[in-house]
Amino acid sequence: MTTSTPLATAKVRLRGVVFDMDGTLTVPVIDFPAMYRTVLGEKEYLKIKSENPSGIDILHHIETWSPDKQKQAYEIIADFEKQGLDRLQIMPGASELCGFLDSRNIRRGLITRNVKEAVDLFHLRFGMIFSPALSREFRPYKPDPAPLLHICTTWGMQPDEVMMIGDSLKDDVACGKRAGAFTCLLDETGRYDSPVYENTEFKPDYTVTSLVEARSLLEKHFDLIP
Ligand SMILES: [Mg+2]
Repeated sequence: MTTSTPLATAKVRLRGVVFDMDGTLTVPVIDFPAMYRTVLGEKEYLKIKSENPSGIDILHHIETWSPDKQKQAYEIIADFEKQGLDRLQIMPGASELCGFLDSRNIRRGLITRNVKEAVDLFHLRFGMIFSPALSREFRPYKPDPAPLLHICTTWGMQPDEVMMIGDSLKDDVACGKRAGAFTCLLDETGRYDSPVYENTEFKPDYTVTSLVEARSLLEKHFDLIP
């Protein structure tokens, strides 16, 4: 391979893409604020929300609770997730993007804070398998970089050869940046334009409003070479 004119900007090699599931590969259907309210109670919810303007880490909060209280909370979360599963819809552009990556032999992985059962159902509906696909059972979960680093090791790739795509700044972008990967935030509605997110610790390398746009971005900015 030769690089031509001095004006040509070298593209960075990208070998793998890791996706978040809920709200990224599937249309968001889980009513998270309602879930948090039910788990935490109105008073605690408002308190924690004011302390965490960029988003509540519900699983993290629950971890310090007594086993009984924890069990109850997980049951509520499971209920909300079950309702979400019943209404599961594939995100527009997801199949095309994944087909495109497959045509270039670029690896596809998945990391979710949802349970394995939800991933299994998603795989069934989507008709394409992500591998590895790490669910909540893999500890520690996002925003810890561990699941992404685990996928990189499995693939035999460096984190800076991989991109994390997700709709959550506090989970997906934080996990990706901590691991040293490229990050792409899917923000369909421009909700992250709010000043609330101005001072967040981790900023995405790219922001897109759709997975169709994510595909153009990958083609434009990266050398997709497995
Ligand atoms: Mg998500």
